[in-house]
Formats: sequence, structure tokens, C-alpha cells
Amino acid sequence: MLNKGMTEKDLFSFFTHTKEEDLDHNYILSSMCTPPHPIAVKAHSMFIETNLGDPGLFPGTASLERLLIGRLATLFHHPTAGGYATSGGTESNIQALRLAKELRKEITTPNVVVPESAHFSFKKACDILCLEMRTVPLNNDLRMDASKAAEIIDKNTVCLVGIAGTTEYGLIDPISELAAIASEQDIFFHVDAAFGGMVIPFLDREIRFDFLLPGVTSIAVDPHKMGLSTIPCGCLIIREPDMLNTLNIETPYLSVKQEFTLSGTRPGAPVAGALAVLDYFGVEGMRAVVSGCMQNTLRLIDGMETFGIQRAVTPDVNVATFICRDIPDRWKVSWTRRGHLRIVCMPHVRRDRIEAFLADIGEMYA
Ligand code: PLP
Repeated sequence: MLNKGMTEKDLFSFFTHTKEEDLDHNYILSSMCTPPHPIAVKAHSMFIETNLGDPGLFPGTASLERLLIGRLATLFHHPTAGGYATSGGTESNIQALRLAKELRKEITTPNVVVPESAHFSFKKACDILCLEMRTVPLNNDLRMDASKAAEIIDKNTVCLVGIAGTTEYGLIDPISELAAIASEQDIFFHVDAAFGGMVIPFLDREIRFDFLLPGVTSIAVDPHKMGLSTIPCGCLIIREPDMLNTLNIETPYLSVKQEFTLSGTRPGAPVAGALAVLDYFGVEGMRAVVSGCMQNTLRLIDGMETFGIQRAVTPDVNVATFICRDIPDRWKVSWTRRGHLRIVCMPHVRRDRIEAFLADIGEMYA
């Protein structure tokens, strides 16, 4: 720590220089986050000091969290579902598995069954919770093989996981089939829709992945990805709100006596940001955002294929992957574990950026 404080001028001059080291979003094609919508920033600033970890002190902000969860529950076709705002998909996934384990306390060697494509947060969750992680291979189309999942499940399985919008390929697992297996075997079924949860409900074609399927127990969804909120804002939505109370622990010195959340102190600001975007856009506005991202994804795939760079898969959501060796240096892209070029067409990746990228690719490959 500095002995003598800096002047505000020096401090912000230092911050300005340091921030210039960050990459320019105009060239970021690899991220599942995007600059927040100005409405989210305004709402965030308004609630900057609020702490949902002590909700009795901030009953107004706590009511916004309930509204946000209610909006998402309704979007996912179960208005009476419950849940809470997390720090993102990782925390939502950890908590879902923690809940599933707690509900089957009698099992001494619990396992969870996840697709090979699962986000690495499940590895963290299993490490922390001492769960055996059983990985289900994917079909040729890189979606989870539901029949293999059924084979791998056994009497010690506390949770089955399906992904609605995989991180690497933007694919949706056969959620209906998995939900049926979970129902039949009476297993907790968690859908990781951290990315897809703010995309799939707004697509032109209907894809079932939510509480309309009776077997779905919980859903992870991240407003801080396609929901254009400020970071950090994830949500864990649970079909039966009371289930969450299974995780309650005593909180003697707070304004509430018990909590089921993982974090103690929780920011109200991004929750206000997330709700602000949802209410500002409404379903129609979100459809327009998603439609723009999907059109850009298709244009990118089409453009790449005209240069002979084939798609790796046809995605369900706005993640495009290609069989490609190299791309021009100035673009920040990512590569999947299978070695495919991966580009996420987030809202900041506008059509002019796609065209600029294609022009660069054209020079390299044409
Ligand atoms: N689940 C999926 C499907 C994701 O794509 C991601 C992140 O990209 C996560 C979970 C983890 O989310 P977070 O980085 O917000 O913790």
C-alpha cells in the first residue's frame, strides 16, 4: 500500500493508461461477454452501494432481485419458479450441484453425469463438492448422447446435466430426451443455459429446453452474457423455490437469519442492470437483439465458406466454428479443444465488424 495517497488526477491518469492496455472490443470475437447496454450502466450506477447479502437493509433492491427472477421464471414457462442472482454461470452450476447433492444426502459416493462438452465450471464444482464427475461422450453432431447418459447413470447419480448452448460450439443438447430420462429415474436435472438462456427463448424456431419439460429441475442463465447487463450477473432458477432452503445456513448477525446463497456479500447493482435491460427491451427488443446476432452468425459462416473455410458445425445459437488454420493477428478469436476456430457473434460484433473480419480473411485466403 502507498504510504502517502495519490492525487485524483494522477490516479486516473494511471488508470486511463492502464485501461488502454485492454483490447478494443471492435476486435474481440472470442468473448461471451459484451459491453453492457447504457440502460444497464445507468441502473447499475444507481444501485452501486447495495448489498443483497444483507437484504433487510436493502428491501427495495431485494425486490428487484425477486422481479428479475420472476421475469426469467416466466420466460422459462414456470412463473412460480424461484432462485437468486449469482456471480455467473460458474456459481449457478456449483450451487445446482450442491443442492442436488444435499437433496440426496444418504448417498455416500455421489456422482454427477455431464456431457463431454460441459463448461469447466463443472470440474470446479465437482472438486469443491467431492463429487465424481462422469463424462458422457458426444454424438457425431457434438451434442450429448442421451442414450449413453442413460447407461452411465446409476443409483449414486445425484444430478444429470445438459447444456443449452455449449460454450465451444453453440449447440443445444437433446434436453427433452434428457429430461425424460431424469423424470423416469427421478434424478435432479440441471440445464446449463448460462449462454443459451438469453438466446433460445428469442429465436424464431421453438426449442424446448426449460420448465415446459417436466424433468427440468433447475436452469443456469447469465444476464451478463447475452442479457447485456453489467458484470457480474448470473441467475440460478429452481422449479420448486422451497428446494433452495435445503442449503440454508444460519447467518446470526445479518438482517436475515438464514441464507442459501454461496457468496455472502452480493452486488445489487448488476441485478438492477439486468432487470433494466429486460424491461427496457421487452420480449420484442430481445428478439431483435438475438435476431441480429443470429443473422451475423449466418453471414459469417456464409462468408467464410465462400473462401473455402468450412463450418465445424451448424450452431443453434450465435457461436460459429470453423475448420481453419490461421487468422490475421489483430483479431482476438479463440480455438476449441478440438482445434476449431471459434467466434462468438455477441451484440458488439456488429455487421460492419463481420465484414471487416471477412475482408481480412479474404486477403489471407482468397
Ligand atoms: N456455462 C456455460 C455454458 C458457459 O458458456 C459459461 C461461460 O462461458 C459458464 C457456464 C461459466 O460462466 P461464468 O464465466 O459467468 O462463470
